[in-house]
Amino acid sequence: MTTAIIDIRSDTVTKPVPGMRRAMAEAEVGDDVLDGDPTTRRLEERTAELLGTERALFFPTGTMANQSAIWALSSPGSEIFAHDDSHIVNWEMAGAAALAGVQVRLVTGGPRITRESFARAVRPPSRDAAHTTLLCLENTHNGAGGMVTPVDELAALSAMGRDLGLNVFLDGARLWNASVATGTPLAAFTACADATMVSFSKGLGGPVGAALAGRADVIEEAWMARKRFGGGMRQSGVLAAAALYGLEHHYDRLHEDHANAARFAEIVGEAPRARPVKPDTGIVMIDLIGTDSGTLASAALARGVRVSVWTATRVRAVMHLDVTRAQVEHAAMVLRDLLS
Ligand SMILES: *Cc1c(COP(=O)(O)O)cnc(C)c1O
Repeated sequence: MTTAIIDIRSDTVTKPVPGMRRAMAEAEVGDDVLDGDPTTRRLEERTAELLGTERALFFPTGTMANQSAIWALSSPGSEIFAHDDSHIVNWEMAGAAALAGVQVRLVTGGPRITRESFARAVRPPSRDAAHTTLLCLENTHNGAGGMVTPVDELAALSAMGRDLGLNVFLDGARLWNASVATGTPLAAFTACADATMVSFSKGLGGPVGAALAGRADVIEEAWMARKRFGGGMRQSGVLAAAALYGLEHHYDRLHEDHANAARFAEIVGEAPRARPVKPDTGIVMIDLIGTDSGTLASAALARGVRVSVWTATRVRAVMHLDVTRAQVEHAAMVLRDLLS
C-alpha cells in the first residue's frame, strides 16, 4: 500500500469537496457581462454584507483583484507604498508598474509594515519627487508566516496614510484568518481601507476566486479594470457557487487550521536544527540551522511530506482542510526527525 503524500505547501492545494462540486453543478447561472449572473450577484451581496462594505465584486483571482484595486486607487506616474515582502511586490509580475504605471516605494525592515517603517519610507513633499497615491497593506501577512496586524495598528497605519492624502488598499487574501484568530469583526478591518481583497481559494477551499470589497465608487472603477484585464466572466456562477459553499461550510473551521499550525510548530520546534516562527494563524515558517531548504524539502518528500521552499534557509508549511490533525502531527514528526 502506498501512503498518500501529505501536501502542506499551501492552503491553495485543497480540492473542491463533493458538496462544493454539487453546488457548482447545480448553480443557477446567467451571462454576467450581459445581464448578470444570479449566483455571482448572491456571492457579491453576501461578501459585502460579511465584510461590512458598500459593494463587492467577484474576481477569478486575487492577483487580478489586487491589480484592479491598484489601478483604481492610484494614477500613472505616481508612487505607491508597499512592504518589500508583500504579495504585490513578490508575486504579481511587477503588475503595478506594467498595468497601473506606478512606481512602488518599498517599505523595508521587519516582517510587515509598522508605523515606524512606514514613516521612514515617506519623503517630504517636493516638486522634484513623484507624488504618492496609495498605501498597500496586507493582513494576514503571508511572507511573515500568516502574521496578524491587530486592528488598532491597522487603523493607525491607515490614518497615517490618509493624513498624507493617500488611498488605502488592504490585501486581505487571508483576512478571514485574521478575524478568526483575533475575534475582531471583518468589518473593523475593512473600515481601514478604501478597498479590500479577500480570497476564496485559500482556507475556504474554493477552486479559484477572490472578491474586491469596498466603497461603491472604487468598486465601479475596479469593474472597468477587471474588464480591461480580461476578467469579465460569463456564467461565473459556477465558480461563485463554490465560493458561497466555502463561506458557508469552511469558514467556521479555520480555527482548526490555526490549532494544527500551533501543534505542528510545537513538534518541529523540538528539533535542535529547527526554529519555527510561532504562528498567529495557519502558516508556519521554519528557519533551518545547518541545512538548506532545498535539501530538507527533498528529504521530506522522500518520506511523504511536501513543504514549500521559501528562502534558502526557510521552509513554509500551511495547514488546510485537506489535512487531518493526525497527518499534521505525522508531517511534523518527519521534519523533527530530519532536523535532529
Ligand atoms: C494568494 C494571495 C494572493 C493572490 O491570490 P490568487 O488568487 O492566487 O491570485 C494575493 N495576496 C496574498 C496575500 C495571497 O496570499
